[in-house]
Amino acid sequence: MRTQRLFERIESIELQAVSKKYGSRFAVDSLDLNIEGGELLVLLGPSGSGKTTTLRMINRMIEPDTGTILINGQNIMKLDPVSLRRNIGYVIQNIGLFPHMTIGENVGLVPKLEGWDEIRTTERVRYLLDFVSLPPDRFIKRYPRQLSGGQQQRVGLARALAMNPPLLLMDEPFGALDPILRKQLQEEFLDIKKEIGRTIVFITHDIEEAFRLGDRIAIMDNAKLVQVGPPEELIFEPVNDLVADIVDTERKFKHMDILNVKDLMTPLDTKYLLDASMDICGAVQTMKERDTEIGIVFENNVLVGKVEMIDLLKSEDEYTLIKKVAKPMKVFAPQDSVASALSEMKKSGEYMAMVMNGDAPRGVLVSDEVLLKLI
Ligand code: ADP
Ligand code: MG
Repeated sequence: MRTQRLFERIESIELQAVSKKYGSRFAVDSLDLNIEGGELLVLLGPSGSGKTTTLRMINRMIEPDTGTILINGQNIMKLDPVSLRRNIGYVIQNIGLFPHMTIGENVGLVPKLEGWDEIRTTERVRYLLDFVSLPPDRFIKRYPRQLSGGQQQRVGLARALAMNPPLLLMDEPFGALDPILRKQLQEEFLDIKKEIGRTIVFITHDIEEAFRLGDRIAIMDNAKLVQVGPPEELIFEPVNDLVADIVDTERKFKHMDILNVKDLMTPLDTKYLLDASMDICGAVQTMKERDTEIGIVFENNVLVGKVEMIDLLKSEDEYTLIKKVAKPMKVFAPQDSVASALSEMKKSGEYMAMVMNGDAPRGVLVSDEVLLKLI
């Protein structure tokens, strides 16, 4: 069955006095919110504040009790719900890939349901896998269980993009990933966002993620919208103490000078360690088994640098030793000041550095983790 293309481009999404109750409690209480075409709007707020309910009302997975939702001026209750959902990409934390279908079949499912022929579907699937940094030749025939968490999350994104929807709804898509991988996927996602220029509504409860990705941020609390605006507006003109608390960036940096790297580093997890004698093929295999996408390479207890899964997958010769392709990392001592370490990392655009006590690795310093710990 072929569904109608409902909108080529999103001009606006308007939520007008939208409410949803469960029993006697409001999950969403008289919400008014305008989303502009082409923006990435972040919904930010504590757990249970109504973010998911709001998002799901936009694609009619949940229907409001009262109020109106318009997309490009059309009342969505007048549209066919299946067509509506096929025109909207939806990405969640545990993306629910079908385990008995290959990656290619998972990504190509909706195009197939839409009656696309084999050739066109395969071409689209290959394009999308490539787009999310999963080389199609390697991944198209694999099964979900053979992929790491981060790779599965990429497949989820590719699947949501299959019909080239003008609107993407994303519910904490990176929430289940470890901090290093999360940061990496955020960076890639920023590139994707630039390239596709579509409207995105993105839920997170991570303030750093909100600030990094959002054009505007809508803060929800207790079923209500508290404030919506660009990050700087929330910082400089918070409407109440709750918003001020959430975005209090000053407090984040206040103690930085007196803190040492060791106070805020993440202890080194041995799953990230790789031996320099490994070749790319072995490293990829090991990283997959350990569900990591980054490796820190040592040669006889001497730090060589780091390797990232996406770079390794792109390499031409999988028998190259990883020590040849490892990228140098900044190294700090446990007693170094966090403030200067972070500013050095920021200058060179690195999000992760090693913490070594002489020759002994102690931990990693991940810039976002540091900020999160200070909030
Ligand atoms: P968030 O995504 O911000 O964590 P939700 O939108 O999931 O919040 O939930 C908002 C409120 O509505 C919560 O108090 C939650 O317990 C309640 N709620 C959500 N879905 C249901 C449901 N199907 N039945 C009963 N209560 C629900
Ligand atoms: Mg939620």
